Amino acid sequence: MTPYRGRFAPSPTGRLHFGSLVAALGSWLAARAAGGRWIVRMEDIDRAREVPGAADDILRTLAAFGLDSDEPVLRQSEREPVYAAALHQLAGAGHAYRCWCSRSDLEPFGGIHPATCVARESARAPAWRLHVGDAVIGFDDAIQGHCTQALAREVGDFVIWRVEGGCAYQLAVVVDDAAQGITDVVRGADLLDSTPRQILLQRLLGLPQPRYAHLPLALGADGRKLSKHEAALPVDGADPLPALRAALRFLGQPVPDAGETARLLALAARAFDLARIPRNATAPTPFAALRKETC
Ligand code: GLU
Repeated sequence: MTPYRGRFAPSPTGRLHFGSLVAALGSWLAARAAGGRWIVRMEDIDRAREVPGAADDILRTLAAFGLDSDEPVLRQSEREPVYAAALHQLAGAGHAYRCWCSRSDLEPFGGIHPATCVARESARAPAWRLHVGDAVIGFDDAIQGHCTQALAREVGDFVIWRVEGGCAYQLAVVVDDAAQGITDVVRGADLLDSTPRQILLQRLLGLPQPRYAHLPLALGADGRKLSKHEAALPVDGADPLPALRAALRFLGQPVPDAGETARLLALAARAFDLARIPRNATAPTPFAALRKETC
């Protein structure tokens, strides 16, 4: 069997918050419980959304939580030629095409691309889209169960190379998961509906398909999506234990009796059981627990 290789792939758009700690810890525990490696990849390809200093801040905070990458951190900003080669491969095989459609061009189609560029070709740079054809992609998620998506109806031909220049998330993540030999993707359920697009790209590029497990998403106190304010609440690297315990509880795992980060993590990895993770795609964020323990 191929040795387990998991990863955590944050985008440097802000500080590490409870939702991203859950994804980091969940992927770390699954990797450690399987005796595998855990790798951090910095997804810093979208310069416009990047917050200066956030990448280093995230890595420092992860280290304070005892979550260190087993291999040097791969930075997507340094890999454009590799992504360009994948685009070239897709375009050469007729799977990708240039497109000038703007968001307003797609409004009459409910935002779903109609599989052919409806804008007039112009002097400005195009985006590149992937032909999804009639692909219906199904996969077994280790937490969420069987999922399927009819790409043409639910997503449409999607952007793999952005108008502003540079690779789009869906293509970069597929190229890097393969380049890093990732066998298991454990991440937040907000990315569940991206997975079929990534599987289609893997098939078209002839890359292996990792196993997937999508963790429940942290919700606000009102049971709705985290507000900007709540989502921005960073976790405290100076006092990691309360947030680590809250994240373990959130993942349905027992909380070991340990007063030290490395010991807590080692015991948690030993006791980790993926089957205990709540199946529902969303669950409330334990703000009360976080607050009670931090103040
Ligand atoms: N960089 C993505 C994010 O922070 C996650 C990518 C992934 O885990 O596939 O939302």
